[in-house]
Amino acid sequence: MDKKVDWLLLDLNSYFASVEQELDPSLRNKPVAVVPTQADSTSVIAASYEAKAFGVKTGVRVGDAKRMCPGLKLVEARHDAYIEYHHAIIKAIETCLPVSAVLSIDEMACKLMGSECNVDKATEIALKIKHTIKTTVGTQLGSSIGLAPNRYLAKVASDMQKPDGLTILTKDILPHRLFTLKLRDFPGVGAKMEERLHKFGIRTVEQMFQKDVHHLREVWGGINGERFWHWIHGHDIADIKTTQSSISQSHVLSPEHRNTQGVYAVLQRLIHKAAYRLRQDGMWATHFYVKVKYMNDTKWEASSKLIECQDTLSFIEALAAFWSRQKFKEYPRPIKAAIVLGGLVPNEYHNLSLFGEDKKSQLSKAMDKLNSKLGKNSVYFAGIQDTKTAAPTRIAFTNIPDEIL
Ligand SMILES: [Mg+2]
Repeated sequence: MDKKVDWLLLDLNSYFASVEQELDPSLRNKPVAVVPTQADSTSVIAASYEAKAFGVKTGVRVGDAKRMCPGLKLVEARHDAYIEYHHAIIKAIETCLPVSAVLSIDEMACKLMGSECNVDKATEIALKIKHTIKTTVGTQLGSSIGLAPNRYLAKVASDMQKPDGLTILTKDILPHRLFTLKLRDFPGVGAKMEERLHKFGIRTVEQMFQKDVHHLREVWGGINGERFWHWIHGHDIADIKTTQSSISQSHVLSPEHRNTQGVYAVLQRLIHKAAYRLRQDGMWATHFYVKVKYMNDTKWEASSKLIECQDTLSFIEALAAFWSRQKFKEYPRPIKAAIVLGGLVPNEYHNLSLFGEDKKSQLSKAMDKLNSKLGKNSVYFAGIQDTKTAAPTRIAFTNIPDEIL
């Protein structure tokens, strides 16, 4: 079974810039840079392939980008549109194959099952997915797909050919097929890790593959090195079931909270508790589920798939999105509220974010730190203040001052 693959990973090419080219046909086949604002002092968020040809890429200062690429079209980022297309893309993929994990706004992974693991069949599905996205979502939305024995190598494979790539890594061509890559091409090997690898005498991918599992554990200084060794050797260790699959919190409402605002505040408090536990347990959630029970035995429930997350604010935003779609006048008094954070992924399998830790994660961690120092519930989002009659309020805010991040 050396010719078998177990994971498909799809990575949209120049995603933000492609959405802009989709929305505005005058930008197609032109060098485009997506920017936060039209100012030379800011940096490019994303660049189209036409702009990349001039060296314009994420992080380049807008002033420099204009000099590098005369005629560069600058467009201001429209995050709402990127999110809307993100959902349309997931829907398109799911007409071909269920999405097992949403890794970021432009990256989705699918576990292959049964006959789908056959390389020919998997290739056929991959081509169908690309075609479906282009025909049902947008002609400008190109993607690169990786097929491999595990999710990690599928990611590596998806990076090997851009744009519009399809790279297949089967065990019979591993590891040789990877020897042309640089150490830094492996997700998880950043500047610091590269330095450590150099210190241990590892300068090429081939040298890295000569080391056994204990060596890499030593280089990494822990279990992550061992995992990395298994990943690059094509073992599907992401399949190991975590002992815990969800974290739930529920609460029977006291009479003063048996109304729309009351239950909303309680749900936010439940999120605070569950998300705190999630972070303490070193887990990331990929599903979010909310349920409210009403006096007359009816219930309201909503759920959604999330990009792997563990910060309180992301769940509160998901709740707000559910809430805005409900017609509460139809419901009598709520009596019980519950939330579930599901599809848990442990830290070790959490895909390293391309942009480092985002602000929301930093905010949640800063709040945990303050709460463990100052006592439980010293810091929380303003929305739950009404539900906390017991503890005195010390600090409550919706916007966190930058200095504590
Ligand atoms: Mg991408």
